[in-house]
Amino acid sequence: MAGEPQDDCLFCKIVAGHIPATIVRETDTTIAFQDINPQAPTHILVIPRLHHRDIATLAAAAPSVAADVLREAGEVAAQEKLESYRVVFNTGSGAGQTVWHAHAHVLGGRGLQWPPG
Ligand code: IMP
Repeated sequence: MAGEPQDDCLFCKIVAGHIPATIVRETDTTIAFQDINPQAPTHILVIPRLHHRDIATLAAAAPSVAADVLREAGEVAAQEKLESYRVVFNTGSGAGQTVWHAHAHVLGGRGLQWPPG
């Protein structure tokens, strides 16, 4: 069921503590942890504890939790002392989404090109 933990979801396993992660912030509704394959000096993922396949699905089902993810992305950037940073939601395989549990990438610590590739 939407929102329920999924046995085959990597990020649900991190939420449950069944897979280790380097957690940098936690709230009642979100977890932020280091990306295992960083694409910038700072690369942190912010995920909702609820399972939804992408940010649009999360926002439709639980808008306050989607807002929590956005707020936490800003809190992570402040905690990491990033003056400039990018928040990315890859949505769909054509956009590079590989984990089907909504997540924000917070990237910073280097120059970021625009437009992204
Ligand atoms: P996506 O490609 O936008 O779906 O982002 C998924 C991200 O999850 C990628 O940046 C991966 O490097 C990251 N990732 C995959 N497995 C793990 C893990 O076990 N811990 C932390 N990050 C992970």
